Amino acid sequence: MATIDERKIEEIVSKVLERLGGGGRPSSTGEAQRLTTAHVPETPRPRANIPRGTNGVYADPDAAAKAARKAFEANERTSVATRIKMVEAMRKAVLANNDALSRYAVEETGLGRYEDKLNKNRLVAEKTPGCEILRPQAYTGDDGLMLTERAPYGVMLAITPTTNPTETILCNAIGMVAAGNAVVFNVHPSAAQTCSWCVHILNEAIQSVGGPRDVLTSVEKPTVESANALMKHPLVRIVVVTGGPAVVKAAMNSGKKSICAGPGNPPAVVDETANLKKAADAIVRGASLDNNIVCIAEKEVIAVDAIANGLIEELKRQPVLWLNDRQIRDAERVVLDGDHVNKDWVGKDAGLIAKAIGVSGHGHDLRLLMCEVTEDHPFVQHELLMPVIPLFRTNNAPDAIAAALRVEHGFHHTATMHSTNIDNMAAMARVCNCSIFVKNDASYAGLALGGEGYTSFTIASPTGEGLTTAIHFTRERRCTLKDSFRFV
Ligand code: NAD
Repeated sequence: MATIDERKIEEIVSKVLERLGGGGRPSSTGEAQRLTTAHVPETPRPRANIPRGTNGVYADPDAAAKAARKAFEANERTSVATRIKMVEAMRKAVLANNDALSRYAVEETGLGRYEDKLNKNRLVAEKTPGCEILRPQAYTGDDGLMLTERAPYGVMLAITPTTNPTETILCNAIGMVAAGNAVVFNVHPSAAQTCSWCVHILNEAIQSVGGPRDVLTSVEKPTVESANALMKHPLVRIVVVTGGPAVVKAAMNSGKKSICAGPGNPPAVVDETANLKKAADAIVRGASLDNNIVCIAEKEVIAVDAIANGLIEELKRQPVLWLNDRQIRDAERVVLDGDHVNKDWVGKDAGLIAKAIGVSGHGHDLRLLMCEVTEDHPFVQHELLMPVIPLFRTNNAPDAIAAALRVEHGFHHTATMHSTNIDNMAAMARVCNCSIFVKNDASYAGLALGGEGYTSFTIASPTGEGLTTAIHFTRERRCTLKDSFRFV
């Protein structure tokens, strides 16, 4: 019996054949042969053998929302000390199961790199803020005391992506539960088994320290319809989405308060003062993280002309395949589908894409395919979400910053710059207006992976919260006491 992956590969091959043959695209027979034979990976991945998650996992979205509401009411009676333990138990559960979670995510979704997912899950487990970030505020004066505390909303709906499936579940679970909420997850259908199992082990962890049942619930077979039903569900108080433009639009139209973490197209600007060796190293590490499916990962490089050749030389010393003009055309045929990104290649290994364009001999060690194009090229304009990274030139740093602004498309998500000119860095930091701006390191330093601060995998640019934490999953409530409290 064919495995899922073998069937998928057959599908990909037949789609490419269709495009190259009958799709009206200019292609010689030789070209078609070269591209299609190169499409079949040597070792198809085995079928994912993921345990079935049952703890908190519901077939029916309405039942999931009702169970979460009951859990919220129990949670309200839970002590802060227990809530702190619940968060710690979730962190430990993911660290203990990281190997399996990372493997299942790659196997089920077919996206990304196991070793990078290990790092991402560990980062979330260790650096997502918990209860400690929620601080009360007090004002005292001649008129008495005013205290502001951060209260939970109730049941939160979290819609999560296929690109960081378990990372987003853990990140949202820690923040939302630390704030005292219960959560219904409607995860991406193509990561549903892994996510159900992740919810299952997190609930087990919560219950092992005395937390209530169903603090986290999820829909076993999630769909866009179940997402929409939950967005409208009377028990759901607030909607948090992490994904592309469609889900952001849906959340904003839900009629409920929504926190929206949407798409990006992060530019990496390299100016004439940059340390080119360090810049090349950082760009390749950042852009190749999990095969570029991470929203913050560099998607295009903008180099000032004076150093562009030097930067390209440095990039070629990295685990990068630099494409010539013919290979760029081949790559366009493979990874684009007309005006769109060919989703079959999202998150695939660079070595596999190289093979598909007729360059064999590269394995898992190859991190990126890179090429020089012009600003209007689709590789620059689209959020490709794969290890294919274009570079284009500009005359000077102000032009590079202006180009970065254009190609980021106003998402205000993430941008990076490599420079030793503080005025240039300050100028870009100001005008790019992004939730994350990283200077002189890989984009992921902005997620606190090798950078300072805390992490979040729900970076809400459209609604402005930035790297979301428990603070954003609370409401402010004020209590005022007149007189009789001051003791000085
Ligand atoms: P996606 O938009 O296809 O799916 C995300 C989630 O939204 C899934 O659960 C999906 O089922 C649901 N969904 C999609 N369309 C919907 C609709 N019309 N109504 C209701 N639900 C809908 O995205 P993906 O492929 O899983 O993830 C990649 C995208 O997400 C990229 O654009 C990436 O930049 C973005 N992303 C952003 C962040 C961030 O923090 N800003 C984090 C991760 C991913």
